[in-house]
Amino acid sequence: MPGAPAGPGAARPQRIALAGAGLLGRLLAWQLARAGHQLDVYDPAPGPDARGAAGWTAAGMLSPVSELECADENVYRLGLRSLQLWPMLIEGLPPVPLSGRLSASDAAAPARQGHAADTPHPVDLHMRGSLLLAHRGDEGAAARVVDLLAGKAPAGQAPRRIDLQALSALEPDIRGPAHAWLMEGEGQIDTWQAMLALALGAEGAGARFHWGQVIERAEPGRLHTAQGPVSADLVLDLRGTGARPQLPVRGVRGEIVHLHAPGLRLNRPLRLLHPRHRVYIVPRAGGRVLVGASEIESEDASPISLRTSVELMAAAHSVLPALAEARVVFTDTNLRPALPDNLPTLVSEPGLVRVNGLFRHGWLIGPALAEQALVAAGLAASGALAARPALIDSPDSLPAPQEASA
Ligand SMILES: Cc1cc2nc3c(=O)[nH]c(=O)nc-3n(C[C@H](O)[C@H](O)[C@H](O)COP(=O)(O)OP(=O)(O)OC[C@H]3O[C@@H](n4cnc5c(N)ncnc54)[C@H](O)[C@@H]3O)c2cc1C
Repeated sequence: MPGAPAGPGAARPQRIALAGAGLLGRLLAWQLARAGHQLDVYDPAPGPDARGAAGWTAAGMLSPVSELECADENVYRLGLRSLQLWPMLIEGLPPVPLSGRLSASDAAAPARQGHAADTPHPVDLHMRGSLLLAHRGDEGAAARVVDLLAGKAPAGQAPRRIDLQALSALEPDIRGPAHAWLMEGEGQIDTWQAMLALALGAEGAGARFHWGQVIERAEPGRLHTAQGPVSADLVLDLRGTGARPQLPVRGVRGEIVHLHAPGLRLNRPLRLLHPRHRVYIVPRAGGRVLVGASEIESEDASPISLRTSVELMAAAHSVLPALAEARVVFTDTNLRPALPDNLPTLVSEPGLVRVNGLFRHGWLIGPALAEQALVAAGLAASGALAARPALIDSPDSLPAPQEASA
């Protein structure tokens, strides 16, 4: 089928050991288990709904054009490909609770607020476009971003200016911004639901998850656990910030706020073009609204700062005054895995594939990167990829690992 995921069933079944059950690990585990490979997955998290991976913290915006502000053409193309792949990937996933949590008695129970009807549900994936907004007085900051996107995006994909009447027709609760642009074709996915559904789907298809296990080293055909080495035909190293020192990856702090705002009318993600900080607002099921996110060069994963909380919530309130009585139900901090150039990499050699550096685009580009990983490992045909630039690096092409920043 044109546009379908590169079928991982093309090769004979293999013994595969996968390190890292984050976003990318789950995407690959789901596909490989379904294709009949013998798959063992290792992760330090205590279980499938434990929040360790950056994938849990993400807002789940699928914004190939908006992200061009800080990404290159390859990320854009991987994003477009992933937008094609997402609907096919989540088809067949098991339904999960709206909250993306299995047990009712976990430590983050407040995060459940807004999920009164926590019944099993297919993963929320929407492609209703997104909006860029700017206040009067912020025209300079807005013009810089809009012009940059218009210059980098192909014809027909650039931000489309809309007047305030059209804005109000799309999003009646937005009040305050003087300028708006529609980004057609952009989307969003509920990351909590998707993370849980991918793990449960992979497990249901036969993947064996070894929770609570740290992989100390990944090498061709071998993973090193605290209990000793594990051999496999193929090793997939998808440990994000845990892949040091074999990759020069660093963590970039991101903080995010979850609000409960029942009754708020919001249909698509918003980005406020602000002179001082980047702010986005993303609606979720059950009256939940996410406001994110900081981007700080630090590996401090401690709770959200007062400064970030104030900036994010003031900005959100300035375009959605109806948020005034919203309840702050959850805040989260995590580290985005980034390489020195902030671009993704796929390193392939016989018996080993490493993928890392998904930075702030993991949900946007994950499916296409997973597809490239399958091709690099010889587990899928390359036809589906022929039209795209190769991303595959040799182990020697990466810069030397660096010390983590404080
Ligand atoms: C605040 C915030 C907002 C974001 N918003 C968006 C967004 O809107 N859209 C978007 O596209 N992206 C977004 N992202 C980025 C996205 O979350 C990441 O790019 C993505 O999660 C990276 O996927 P990954 O699988 O490489 O890493 P992760 O999801 O971090 O997974 C890595 C996994 O490896 C495991 N691991 C670590 N060390 C070891 C070890 N030694 N042995 C075994 N396993 C190990 C970890 O436990 C984890 O499960 C956001 C990120 C943050 C922090």
